[in-house]
Amino acid sequence: MPIRELSPTDAHARQRAGAVLVDVRGELERVLGMADAALGVPVDELKARPADHLPDSATEILLICQGGRRSLLAAEALAALGYRNVSTVAGGTDAWQANGLPMQRTDIDEDFGDRYSRHLRLPEVGLHGQRKLEAARVLLVGAGGLGSPAAYYLAAAGIGHLRIADDDVVDRSNLQRQILHTDAGVGTPKVVSAERALNALNPRTLIDAVAERVTPANVDRLLDGVDVVIDGADNFPARYLLNDACVKLGKPLVYGAVHRFEGQVSVFDAGRQRGVAPCYRCLFPQPPPPEAAPNCAEAGVLGVLPGVIGLLQATEAIKLLLGLGESLRGRLLQFDALAMRFRETRLDADPHCPVCAPDRVFPGYTDYAAFCAGG
Ligand SMILES: [Zn+2]
Repeated sequence: MPIRELSPTDAHARQRAGAVLVDVRGELERVLGMADAALGVPVDELKARPADHLPDSATEILLICQGGRRSLLAAEALAALGYRNVSTVAGGTDAWQANGLPMQRTDIDEDFGDRYSRHLRLPEVGLHGQRKLEAARVLLVGAGGLGSPAAYYLAAAGIGHLRIADDDVVDRSNLQRQILHTDAGVGTPKVVSAERALNALNPRTLIDAVAERVTPANVDRLLDGVDVVIDGADNFPARYLLNDACVKLGKPLVYGAVHRFEGQVSVFDAGRQRGVAPCYRCLFPQPPPPEAAPNCAEAGVLGVLPGVIGLLQATEAIKLLLGLGESLRGRLLQFDALAMRFRETRLDADPHCPVCAPDRVFPGYTDYAAFCAGG
């Protein structure tokens, strides 16, 4: 027996007369909009346990999906199970909505639903994950080459609160890679320029612009309340300071660095996983002598390189916030742009590390600020 397809208007009238309307789409589709008073039961669940969701095989049942195809298949399955009075809504929820029929109120607004629809459709993110991102607080140190792509994508992804710390002003030589900034912004504080660009992209993301360099005096305050720290400063004083602060305060640190045609990225999570996850000092207990530190001398860098590394940092930050996948914890990922190769090195926690060894009392911050003075 062929399944009867009803127009949305007829289906609505039948629903008002007592028919049960069942939306067979997945939860993630339903949060973006569902016919009013519909029962949400994903198609597989409905087929597996119809009796748990439907009154009885004689009651009139209307099935609806997005465009009308899935509901038809579901109706055929129900008919095969003995449900005699099953119809579907032609054109699905799209047609229902286009006909101006009542929709269920959802707790997400239209901007949220539209803006994050590609996340909401991923079962691994979904509404739950997007809410997590919205509630997340990220500290990004540096609004430069690494910070630019990281900040753009974090804001685009819907990070609710992004604190950006940088005391620099935009220089024309930055524009080859620091894409948050524009030619018109030369001479503007980087955090101001960054806030402007990020607000234009996603006004939902609250930008906390802090025009300060990270120092032993302010690092605890900068890390206060944040879930993830991203090191986009790419200099030794900031790197060691952020590492030590993240160990002390138990925050995951997404590390990134670039030099000429090569970059590297990792996640240091020793603060939360003492003795298991390494910190940066497990690799390099002390900074190299200033004359051996290329950052101080402003070595050249291929403009796209921090783009690649900064995006890997943003990816790791989002994964950490969502609890998704396998982080770079305990792995150093190195990228060679000229060979177009990624290489991975395993990193172990150093049981004698000066800051993160399990029995170690926090030694206090070291001020490496004078470190680059001669550079
Ligand atoms: Zn360590």
